[in-house]
Amino acid sequence: MRIYNCHTHIFTLEDTPEGFLKYGLGFLPDWVLELLKRLVLKKWMARLALKLLRKPYAVKGLSFHLVGLLSTSSQVFRNLQKFYPPGSRFVVLPLNFAHVGLGDLKVPYAQQLDELIQVKRSFPNDCLLFVHIDPREDTNENNRKFIEKYLERGFSGIKMYTPLGYYPFDPRLEEVYRLAEEKAVPIVSHCSQGGIFYAGKELPKSFLRPQSFNPQAGGKYEFEAAKNEVFCDHFVHPERYIDVLEKFPKLKLCFAHFGWDTIEHRRKRIYHRKELYEGVKKLLLDERYPNLYADISYSLFDKKFSKQLKADFEANPALQDKVVFGTDYFMTLQEKLTESQLYEGFRADVGEAIFTKLAYENPKRFLTSAYYRAS
Ligand SMILES: [Zn+2]
Repeated sequence: MRIYNCHTHIFTLEDTPEGFLKYGLGFLPDWVLELLKRLVLKKWMARLALKLLRKPYAVKGLSFHLVGLLSTSSQVFRNLQKFYPPGSRFVVLPLNFAHVGLGDLKVPYAQQLDELIQVKRSFPNDCLLFVHIDPREDTNENNRKFIEKYLERGFSGIKMYTPLGYYPFDPRLEEVYRLAEEKAVPIVSHCSQGGIFYAGKELPKSFLRPQSFNPQAGGKYEFEAAKNEVFCDHFVHPERYIDVLEKFPKLKLCFAHFGWDTIEHRRKRIYHRKELYEGVKKLLLDERYPNLYADISYSLFDKKFSKQLKADFEANPALQDKVVFGTDYFMTLQEKLTESQLYEGFRADVGEAIFTKLAYENPKRFLTSAYYRAS
């Protein structure tokens, strides 16, 4: 059996805006963040800090920044490969942070994608590239053309990360979905409260009263303003996909993280964790939408999640065909677990028969499209 890890990241800090340190380190006073920003952005300084710090990963929020800082995408990819048997394949998910409200990117998004193409040249079979779409980038028609261009250049799927500040039903995504449905192109969309969120100074009005390309019968969306990191939970609720799925019922869509959040108790949530998890599960089992999946990335570090999932696999064996394996490398370093601990721990937890479905059989179905044939 070949292992497919359907959710990994290899972007570096160069691909993020300067304000990115806010994530994971937001509890630090502004002046410390400012200082870190100045120091950490100098690579030699960070290397020195890593040498002096005996346990760099002891600082929860800093760990993934250090990985992103010290390496090129290609080095991060090589590190990831080391944890898996030869021949394993990895879905690599880039992010376009241009609209997250933290200022300009250090390198343009197109350059990040070009660098990924270079990585794929070195590992043509093992590295499966997805392209992130942020609808604010362009018009409905141009967003489709943008995706088409990268699929033709060897990308295998589409990534969405709605808490950056857009809803799945954004009218500028309609043509992208049409293309994806026609060509069976897989989409991985972030579905978990917490994590990276829109960090602009004010919430745009369009967030509070958004337009949908397929408004539900009589339904209108109206959300109350809240602190950014809390408000952005509205972007991830699985119900936000109903408008999309009604129009594109055959869409091949994967809810990343299975709706499970890893928010600590001190942070307010809008929705109960169970509500999102159950919402995803309900959609996966809905026969009107045969091509929906969920991945277990990041959530798999939480034993409560694995326990819940195992119980649901037993109660609903059909669910075993709807879930794909992924880890969220290298975001998971925040939990002080190595990739091996995550991957091998989960494999032992669910057993070989289920692991084979999640890591091989289901990904083969999920990833195969007019542009890519998984084997
Ligand atoms: Zn991720």
